[in-house]
Amino acid sequence: MITRILPPTDAAIAEAAALIRAGELVAFPTETVYGLGADGLNREAVAKIFQAKGRPGDNPLILHISALDQIAPLIACELSSVAKKMADAFWPGPLTMIFPKSARVPENVSAGLSTVAIRFPAHPDAQRLIAAAETPIAAPSANRSGKPSPTTANHVFEDMDGRIPLILDGGECLVGVESTVVDMTGPVPHILRPGGITAEQIAQVAGASEVDSAVMRPLAEGEKPRSPGMAHRHYAPNGQLTVFTGDSDRVIQRIQSEYDCAKANGSRPLILSMEAHVASYGDRRIESLGADETAMAHRLFALLRDADHMEADVLFAEGVEAKGVGLAVMNRLGRAAAFHIVEV
Ligand code: AMP
Ligand code: MG
Repeated sequence: MITRILPPTDAAIAEAAALIRAGELVAFPTETVYGLGADGLNREAVAKIFQAKGRPGDNPLILHISALDQIAPLIACELSSVAKKMADAFWPGPLTMIFPKSARVPENVSAGLSTVAIRFPAHPDAQRLIAAAETPIAAPSANRSGKPSPTTANHVFEDMDGRIPLILDGGECLVGVESTVVDMTGPVPHILRPGGITAEQIAQVAGASEVDSAVMRPLAEGEKPRSPGMAHRHYAPNGQLTVFTGDSDRVIQRIQSEYDCAKANGSRPLILSMEAHVASYGDRRIESLGADETAMAHRLFALLRDADHMEADVLFAEGVEAKGVGLAVMNRLGRAAAFHIVEV
């Protein structure tokens, strides 16, 4: 199959929507990362997503909508007043909410769970595509399973060339990490995956929020996660990544000595540091993660892919405090590092 990349002109959106309606896959930009979309009400189309990504069948997908009135047929209850407030405050935007599912949602979208995840993305091209397709679009991130999520059309092409007919190129994604996933089936919004909408913002709107305990630790052997995606290997670069947290002077010193040691052993190390610390590492090989947590979220996945192109076999990253958007950054860094996080 030839994989084309098109700018999101009206003609390209119409062609993409026709592909979706015909049960084919289209990759498209959102404000978080690129999505790999299929008609979310078509079981066979959805199955193609799992195949193209190499995604385990037990990891459910998010249904993307472009208007609030598309929700009612997908869920088995009324929206609670808290869910309405959250939709008001954060939609369209990088927030996914989980509700009891209706019978209209195919089993493979929810990977057999009784719930369904729904998002109303803010990206105008995503909205145009969903509206033109006239169906909710099921879409996970458009990477091969286990790889860092794609934040440019070229990243998608790297992973999906020959597997899908069309990639809509809407430029670089603004947020850079996937949506905040919140389970709305309990009394308090329960954050299963941190993202651009923070726990603090959700608590302000909903009165309270809680963060799942598995967000910042590996699952124990045999432990069943509240979100299936937590159980899977994620975001990993080819090289072995270690994250260092704590006092920044000590972190810099420790990374310098780990780097020099790796280099002396014949490895090809790479440092990922905060912008302000780049000069402290002298002429060691380094990439800047950016000036703050928001910039880090925006760049992280692209840097992990760059690290592979640079053939880095050992990576040392500076961590940040796990609050605000920093929680999403540390969750992705932690998973990319298989939770090799060292407090110095
Ligand atoms: P992706 O779109 O690739 O970022 O993956 C979607 C994420 O949402 C995965 O981590 C899923 O496990 C999670 N997810 C989707 N639907 C549900 C659900 N019904 N319950 C819990 N987590 C879900
Ligand atoms: Mg993903």
